[in-house]
Amino acid sequence: MIDIPKKHKELFELIGETADSIDQQVYVVGGYVRDYYLNKPITEITDIDFVTVGSGIHLAQEIARKLKNNKISIFKQFGTAQIKHKKLDLEFVGARKESYRRDSRKPIVEDGTLQDDQLRRDLTINALSWCLNPGSFGVLHDPFGGIKDLQDKVVRTPIDPEKTFDDDPLRMMRAIRFATQLHFRIDDDTMNAIKKMAPRLSIISKERILDELNKIVMTPQPSFGFKLLHETGLLKEFFPEMVNLLGVDEKNGQRHKDNFWHTLEVLDNVAEAGGDLWLRWAAIMHDIAKPPTKRFDNHVGWTFHGHDALGAKWTPKIFRRLGLPLDDRMKYVQKLVRLHLRPIALVSDEVSDSAIRRLIYEAGNEIDDLMALCRADITSKNEWKVKKFQNNFDRVEKRIQEVEEIDEMRNWKNPVSGQDIMDVLNTGPGPVIGRVKDRIKDAILDGEIPNNHEAAHQYLLQIKDQYL
Ligand code: ATP
Ligand code: MG
Repeated sequence: MIDIPKKHKELFELIGETADSIDQQVYVVGGYVRDYYLNKPITEITDIDFVTVGSGIHLAQEIARKLKNNKISIFKQFGTAQIKHKKLDLEFVGARKESYRRDSRKPIVEDGTLQDDQLRRDLTINALSWCLNPGSFGVLHDPFGGIKDLQDKVVRTPIDPEKTFDDDPLRMMRAIRFATQLHFRIDDDTMNAIKKMAPRLSIISKERILDELNKIVMTPQPSFGFKLLHETGLLKEFFPEMVNLLGVDEKNGQRHKDNFWHTLEVLDNVAEAGGDLWLRWAAIMHDIAKPPTKRFDNHVGWTFHGHDALGAKWTPKIFRRLGLPLDDRMKYVQKLVRLHLRPIALVSDEVSDSAIRRLIYEAGNEIDDLMALCRADITSKNEWKVKKFQNNFDRVEKRIQEVEEIDEMRNWKNPVSGQDIMDVLNTGPGPVIGRVKDRIKDAILDGEIPNNHEAAHQYLLQIKDQYL
């Protein structure tokens, strides 16, 4: 007998009894059953999927009535219903046969048996179900050897993978996503089918692709998934700029590092340090513009001058295409891409306070994340070098703290307002006001005058004649 928490057991019993009362079979299916056999902590469960032979909507309505719960949403066109019960999303669907027309994303959906429904699931490990009707409560249905695949740690489609992927090409992304989350390998036939069918991903919406991609990005070791996305040819279908990072050139015996594998190391480093989704995206994007800026110089070897600025310029375009947000989160990533080389330029002891102050001003609240990205960017295999670079960044961080304590540059606001300047110059709005403001900002950042209203105002009086 299955050993699940009492509150889930009682809920499942109620669902089974309700289904019995309307002469329907009901099963819990998918993630809940899979995760049970993986011993995943129960606290991580947010949604539970149920499949019934008959109408999913009708069953959900009956259950909502019994639970005295009115938080039910019905999606007639899909034949599904969702009940929000305490902290759980309970999803109900009628068993169905499903197949897709080659030229369209819209499936032809018909009522089917449990068997039909299991045949159209994405993976064997997701096609496990327990019956909930009294009499067969807790009986496992495992038509495709999902339990064995869980034990063997393998991701595999229930039926011929080409058929599974042809019906819904997103399943190729899902196979890789689950392999990455669970650290499973992908069965050879399934892997070969993905390689063959990868171009079919083009019929899938960017939102669905991004959903799976972000789940890969949020795993503890995202490189595992990106490696598979690359090997199968899926990555170039939606993110060709990243694939372009691959490869090493050699000239006069000098080689540069492979920027694809380097980027993945940086991404893993950020993930290991607990970085959130957006710091991870900054890691993915930080060197994205290296290929077009690559040059060979006989004195210094390989260079990528300007890849930081160009990468920042590409960021909105790539975010739009991938369906990522274009709001402050994009601006955050863009800023880190643009500034990711700056802390390296500050390691020398000769660097002035003013250079440090400028970086704090430009990075603002993102200064700590920028330093985290820079540390993750150290991927040398030479331990001595890594130690040296980390020590350098320790010094930069120490100086950032010192300068910040004195000047509070992080959320800097010009202590003189546009109105102050207009009053002193005795003029109205115009481009000159901006120029004077910049002049004052530079004086403060360069340490010529202290960062306060009194000093800034005195300075304004000094320079005003130049602008009259
Ligand atoms: P998790 O919620 O932990 O990501 P899950 O297995 O519950 O994992 P969902 O996306 O919630 O994943 O889907 C629920 C179930 O529906 C899956 O287990 C799978 O059986 C089925 N499923 C979801 N999407 C597809 C799809 N595109 N093709 C086939 N079956 C799918
Ligand atoms: Mg789920």
